Amino acid sequence: PYTLGPKISDWDAQRKFWNTMNPGMNKTRTGKPKLLLVSGSQPGPCGNPMGDFYYLKFLKNRIDYARIHGLEIFYNMAMFDNDMTSFWAKLPLLRKLMVNHPDVEWIWWMDSDAVFTDMTFEMPMHKYEGKNLVVHGFHNLLYEEQRWIALNTGSFLIRNCQWSLDLLDAWAPFGPEGETRVKAGKMLTAKLVDRPDFEADDQSALVYLLLFDDPKWKLKTHIEWEFYLHGYWKYLVYKYEDLMSKSRPGFGDDRWPLVTHFVGCKPCQEAVTTKLDECLAQMERAFNFADNQVLEKYGYTHRSLGSFKTQRIRKDSPDPLGLLEETLPALEKPQNS
Ligand code: UDP
Ligand code: MN
Repeated sequence: PYTLGPKISDWDAQRKFWNTMNPGMNKTRTGKPKLLLVSGSQPGPCGNPMGDFYYLKFLKNRIDYARIHGLEIFYNMAMFDNDMTSFWAKLPLLRKLMVNHPDVEWIWWMDSDAVFTDMTFEMPMHKYEGKNLVVHGFHNLLYEEQRWIALNTGSFLIRNCQWSLDLLDAWAPFGPEGETRVKAGKMLTAKLVDRPDFEADDQSALVYLLLFDDPKWKLKTHIEWEFYLHGYWKYLVYKYEDLMSKSRPGFGDDRWPLVTHFVGCKPCQEAVTTKLDECLAQMERAFNFADNQVLEKYGYTHRSLGSFKTQRIRKDSPDPLGLLEETLPALEKPQNS
């Protein structure tokens, strides 16, 4: 059967040993366990150059979020395993990153078509002690209604540990392109509620594992619904102006969504359709909605959410840090006179 690589069974001990030998490596500059933000897109050019344009903007958005929150970042454009194409590409990548970065505690996967829309929201990591997988979804839709869209694998956190390597080992066999993936798709459609008939996707396979495989998966998985770790774009993008007039960033939930994910948009596709046009227009708006939160510090804003053009929002100050008036004269006084 298909495997992602040689079986590793004592990863927790190996990691622990490595970190003892390399003290201090496993903490960020602010002393927290390291979180690596990971994303990626196809190795070749998009069929539609606008797709590459928005992937670049979304990458800039991730760099901004990572800088603001002190996260490391990895963007992949290589195929790590010829069998694991399209949405399955993240699995071999996650395994490689885990075993080659023993200093990293958590990996945050984000699809290329997802964008951070709350730049100040900080992940509440304390909630996930004792959990190894954090994925956006709804408990009842998942465990009671068994729906294939009960959770979303476009943005999730996975801990670097033995449990996660085991999960990837259990997850990957649904994915190899060709007959295996087609057959697995039929099985998933039969088992999960409302799933259309198509080849196996990583999201359905994870739902399947949580529902029907070893109960240890469910035990260590946190289904996050209190904020938008993933947020479906159609429910969010038309509300941005309203939020800007009534709310402020920092909540991550309906008051200011953390992530806007363009599920089903396929911005790389060549064929021009009205649906794709709407996707691209809303990607521009989502990016600018987020970018305003970045530009604000430097005194700029987008003229409107639909416009990549910017305008100044204040005059430059000769005292950018606000120190000249009071603090500096005080500091310059001799301390022990
Ligand atoms: N992807 C990748 N390499 C590839 C193709 C896809 O890393 O060669 C990633 C990319 O980040 C993409 C994700 O797989 O966003 C999932 O696919 P997509 O977003 O199209 O699925 P959807 O969210 O629309 O279901
Ligand atoms: Mn996606």
